[in-house]
Amino acid sequence: AGGFDVERVRADFPILQQQINGHPLVYLDNAATTQKPRAVIDAISDYYCYDNSNVHRGAHTLSDRATAKFEAARQKVADFVNAETPAQVIWTRGTTEAINLVAASWGGANLKAGDRVLVSAMEHHSNIVPWQLVAEKTGAQVDVIPVDESGTLDLKAFALMLDHRVRLVSVNHVSNALGTINPVAEMIALAHDAGALVLVDGAQAIGHWAVDVQALGCDFYTFSGHKLFGPTGIGVLYGRRELLDAMPPYQGGGEMIETVSFTGTTYNQLPYKFEAGTPDIAGVIGLGAAIDYINALDRRAAAAHEDALLAYARDRALQVPGLRLIGTATNKVAVLSFVLEGVHPSDLGMLMDQQGIAVRTGHHCAQPLMDQYQVPGTVRASFTIYNTFEDVDRLFAALDKARGMLL
Ligand code: PMP
Repeated sequence: AGGFDVERVRADFPILQQQINGHPLVYLDNAATTQKPRAVIDAISDYYCYDNSNVHRGAHTLSDRATAKFEAARQKVADFVNAETPAQVIWTRGTTEAINLVAASWGGANLKAGDRVLVSAMEHHSNIVPWQLVAEKTGAQVDVIPVDESGTLDLKAFALMLDHRVRLVSVNHVSNALGTINPVAEMIALAHDAGALVLVDGAQAIGHWAVDVQALGCDFYTFSGHKLFGPTGIGVLYGRRELLDAMPPYQGGGEMIETVSFTGTTYNQLPYKFEAGTPDIAGVIGLGAAIDYINALDRRAAAAHEDALLAYARDRALQVPGLRLIGTATNKVAVLSFVLEGVHPSDLGMLMDQQGIAVRTGHHCAQPLMDQYQVPGTVRASFTIYNTFEDVDRLFAALDKARGMLL
């Protein structure tokens, strides 16, 4: 597809070159976390070997170097998502912390009894529970945008839900459990017309195509570095400047202050106002290296490769007796979620692992969605740039064998 050289990409990922339980590893759990290219591992290792120091503090060379690399990564992220300024890129531990930050800070300051926050029925728990927590404190309510049997968000129902009480809509760009791509641009336009803000949880989108926060027009955008070939422990909150400026701090501590006294404290400017404490400096630098790595790829060809893998895997899945696909939307990323009649997903996962195939089984932190489909969980195979057609063949060969043992 598009001349995409998957073998060259695979060679960049040391972890893929190993055997698991006597079989070459087939890693199909990319929606949970992606593997890291050598360039990212080296950037982290180099930082600790040569530059390690605290940022924004020292009057010495190492601290200057660490700070320069740290802030260069912020600029890379700003360019990567087309943020207006790097000051609008806030480092967090991941998507989860980014959403909690907005819920606690913006929600705590702006929500009141009777206000509504809308989330969809296909949200990750990290885009449900923070809103429930702030709703409990403020008396606001969390309402659910319905999702149909195919795993498609009901845009008409959404439009009808938008009344003057809706203050914020928080929805994922792509569902981690199903792979559905949500029509967030249309949703943002509708929400803004109704006077509501929109947070887009981009955890599952950011690794698949070039996101442009200004073109989308979203108010907040969140993602995790580890779904983007970067390290765990680092993520991003992008926000519109006037919103971030008006929001109170999330956590208090060093770095986020301007002056501190016992009669009153003033806060630092953006982005530091939201970055209390020593940050994950190595994580930030690793994420910067991941973005450099992605920018050097032909992203269109990579996306076409993923689409081709999904189409092939879906065809294969349809030939397996008793296999039910969960989520059949046509507009989706390369995620195949399914159940096998008469077999518990976790039993299947164990037998697949014995054959070297890494898939995710369970509720995928989306229990309300599993309840809607009346399944305890699914088996999820999620594909990325380093997966091959042979990986798909291995997946279905392993599935066949497991079926034979279980049924
Ligand atoms: N939202 C979605 C759609 C996700 O897929 C994930 C990760 N599975 C999260 C939020 C949470 O991300 P993290 O655990 O990196 O904070």
